[in-house]
Amino acid sequence: EDNFTQSETDVLIIGAGPAGLMAAYWMARYGVNARIIDKRDTKVFQGHADGLRARTLELFDSMGFQHRVIQEGTISTVVNIWVPSTQGELVRQASINISRTDESPFYNTCLTQGRIERFIIDSIREHSDLDVEYSVIAETLDYDEELSNDPNSYPITVQVQALGEDDTKVEARCEAAGNEVTRDNLLPDDWADIVPRKKSRKTQVETIKAKYLIGCDGAHSWTRKQLKIPVEGSTTDHVWGVIDVVPLSDFPDVRRLSVVNSATGTILVVPRERSLVRFYVPVQTCEAGAADRFDRSKITPDLIRARVQAIFAPFTFDFKECSWWTVYQVGQRISAQSTKDNRIFLAGDAVHTHSPKMGLGMNMSLQDGFNVGWKIALAVAGILKPEVLETYALERHPLAEMLLEFDRNWSPMFNDRKPEGVDTKASDMALIAERFEDFADGWKVFYPPSSLVRKAEDNVEFAFARHMIPGERVRPVKLRNQADGTPLWTTRLLESDGRFRILVLAGDIRNPMQRQRIETLNRALAEQTGSSISPLGRYMEIPGQFKNPVDVLTVHASPWKEVEFFDFPEILRPFDPVKGWAYDMIWCDDACISDRYCDGKAYEKWGVDQVLGALVVVRPDQYIGWVAD
Ligand code: FAD
Repeated sequence: EDNFTQSETDVLIIGAGPAGLMAAYWMARYGVNARIIDKRDTKVFQGHADGLRARTLELFDSMGFQHRVIQEGTISTVVNIWVPSTQGELVRQASINISRTDESPFYNTCLTQGRIERFIIDSIREHSDLDVEYSVIAETLDYDEELSNDPNSYPITVQVQALGEDDTKVEARCEAAGNEVTRDNLLPDDWADIVPRKKSRKTQVETIKAKYLIGCDGAHSWTRKQLKIPVEGSTTDHVWGVIDVVPLSDFPDVRRLSVVNSATGTILVVPRERSLVRFYVPVQTCEAGAADRFDRSKITPDLIRARVQAIFAPFTFDFKECSWWTVYQVGQRISAQSTKDNRIFLAGDAVHTHSPKMGLGMNMSLQDGFNVGWKIALAVAGILKPEVLETYALERHPLAEMLLEFDRNWSPMFNDRKPEGVDTKASDMALIAERFEDFADGWKVFYPPSSLVRKAEDNVEFAFARHMIPGERVRPVKLRNQADGTPLWTTRLLESDGRFRILVLAGDIRNPMQRQRIETLNRALAEQTGSSISPLGRYMEIPGQFKNPVDVLTVHASPWKEVEFFDFPEILRPFDPVKGWAYDMIWCDDACISDRYCDGKAYEKWGVDQVLGALVVVRPDQYIGWVAD
């Protein structure tokens, strides 16, 4: 009897990979009553996904831990293509620039998924008591459709098992044999997680009732199967040997991102943290369905080593240290739906799987979790209408489709048996890269019009803020703080703390007419009576947890030295009896001699008039929702 319990939670997250942890981050920030479970007994430590796109780093900056990734990761600014020359030896055919310094302060970076999980888990702990419950497996799901329209109901019932110490269902020690985790190959802050948790002797069964469920349970999503949501679109399964080693090699680009297409096969070389390099080697391509019959046990680190040696020849290749290896098999698949009644959601690999070589799997999954998390949290808190949850599928599902299209175009470049008509010329690669560049890097996400995105008519940009496009991200710029002159990127300034932000682009407030306009805005924001309650007064707070869901941030374009902090109306720089004036709310678009990125060109990059400015509403996830003059 003691082994059966019942409980309720507002949000249950199944799966603590990249997608689940991102969703949990929002639960922590908003103080929502939530739980996150995973059948693994620990977090990931080594291997798995490793590629981070610059857009993901922008989000990490807004979450406050991008510096940890930069400190530990390896940056790739070019991709090198190696092919056999007419004499047959390997030559570097091209070195393609893959960094866009005009678009983002960040670059493509490689760091193991285990460290990313570390940083998100730390951030969750910093903001709440929420913690991942490991060795807990979801076993049954019941969903009562009749309750779906009542936002306060608990239509979801999940039975979970908290596995006891003698239970064999635990995904033992996270890493498979041959990927041993030791004190030597872990960073000190990961060590605590490997010490076996004290488990109860007997397996516990718990029935959890939830208002919302997020299935972040990976490519073989248990949640998706319970809901009988079909997956579509698989054509071929590619089987890859993946190995993370410290290479002993005279190949010149062994520490640069490279594709090597020799007569004997193709490999992808991905430089990593701590002297590691990852090698992706195709070991077999099977027609759909046939991959099930593929004998994985035939693939060993020795076999992968021999494949790399053959492809690299006459360059040498060997290793003594291998931190992780796997046989990785993927098809291009997309789930037909990513939600059930906007009460149950699927995110990450549960919705889309594809080849790992473009390093998009983890990025897309992180961004899915990021998109759905804040919306559910605010719906639970009663701040957003539940209908807003429709925007998750509206915004993310088309991107999953685009991801698969990208993968279909790109992945044949890396396969040993290329379909007819596919070449691996550097020019072809550059062409595809260019076509999908904005998408792959995450600059453009094309979120369509909805209750959270008000587009201009006919989808043209607004004349007064040409490059502030609703549905897209705020293009990162560096601004100066008006009070102390310190420069800061907008990616950090627009902190992912859960708030909607009204960006007051105040223009040049030395201009008397513009000053008048700012005064008018001041009055509108300050209104608190009768029918005219200001946007700041209109929104509730989450009792005891979340204050002021709408924030105001001012960026003016007058020269930094020619205006004062106190020139701005008080509502834009409020006073707190304990903390004093809000010096962090007034920013200036002016150059700073100590920092070349702070160049006074923010208004120009945003397409905003230097005198007249504009008003922009930024959503909690840093995407633009609304723009006005
Ligand atoms: P996942 O990270 O897969 O997380 C899903 C989680 O759900 C898991 O922790 C799982 O234990 C948990 N779960 C599943 N079912 C249940 C249940 N019923 N109850 C409780 N918990 C459950 N990508 C690359 O780009 N390059 C690579 O080389 C690469 N290699 C990989 C190797 C392996 C072995 C794996 C598994 C993945 C690899 N990936 C790689 C893919 C990459 O890790 C994923 O794209 C990314 O992790 C997706 O994140 P996610 O959160 O959606 O899912």
